[in-house]
Amino acid sequence: MRVLLYGAGGKVGAALAPRLRDAGHEVTEAGRGDDPDPAGFDAAIDFTRPDAVRANVERCLDAGVPVVVGTTGLTEDDLAALDERARAAGVACFVAPNFALGAVLMMRFAAEAARHLPRAEIVEAHDERKVDKPSGTARATAAAMGGDVEIHSIRLPGLVAHQEVLLGGEGQLLTIRHDTFSREAFAPGVLLALDRVGSLAPGVTVGLDALLSRGGE
Ligand code: NAP
Repeated sequence: MRVLLYGAGGKVGAALAPRLRDAGHEVTEAGRGDDPDPAGFDAAIDFTRPDAVRANVERCLDAGVPVVVGTTGLTEDDLAALDERARAAGVACFVAPNFALGAVLMMRFAAEAARHLPRAEIVEAHDERKVDKPSGTARATAAAMGGDVEIHSIRLPGLVAHQEVLLGGEGQLLTIRHDTFSREAFAPGVLLALDRVGSLAPGVTVGLDALLSRGGE
């Protein structure tokens, strides 16, 4: 596929570009201020910043180009606006707060555990340069668990993406933990989304979970 990669010079983008090329995609890199014309691309990917992502995605959707969005910090209002835009253009916009398979499983397990141990809190830790807080993964986990879950955010140098879900019961504690040690962890999920985004229904689809079969894919 001909793929337009927004945020190619960033930490995730730089790890992703070679993996996309290894998988046979033709990648055009876009950074801040480049403002490329998305017309003619088969798909676009955005790993930029919360204050940049919406304009990039809207431009692609208006050009009829499906988009895979990894950038976090989009609000419910942003998603509703993008959904409307994508439907009007007849293309899909796939958004995932976390493309690491293990993190998706962590969310699934946490949602299941919360049905039996309803008192829970989340601790998420990321690199100090992460702009949004709490993380999109933590917010998505809390929502999957029923919503009333306090989130504690840590920002320190040296970290990538780490999350613990702690569920307390009488005389017991269940901890579900996921660690991302390198940004290569996101590549298989992004490649899967890229493969599927062209055949998704027009509008916004949220979460890698939607692309993973329950049968073990
Ligand atoms: P980063 O290192 O700050 O990279 C962001 C890149 O985007 C920078 O190179 C930045 O350039 C560039 N940029 C800024 N505005 C742009 C624009 N308008 N068009 C094109 N490029 C632009 O951040 P990161 O760690 O790679 O993370 C990027 C985003 O992905 C964050 O929102 C992060 O939370 C999210 N993330 C998501 C996942 C997931 O699985 N969904 C995983 C990791 C990270 P400048 O340096 O010049 O500003």
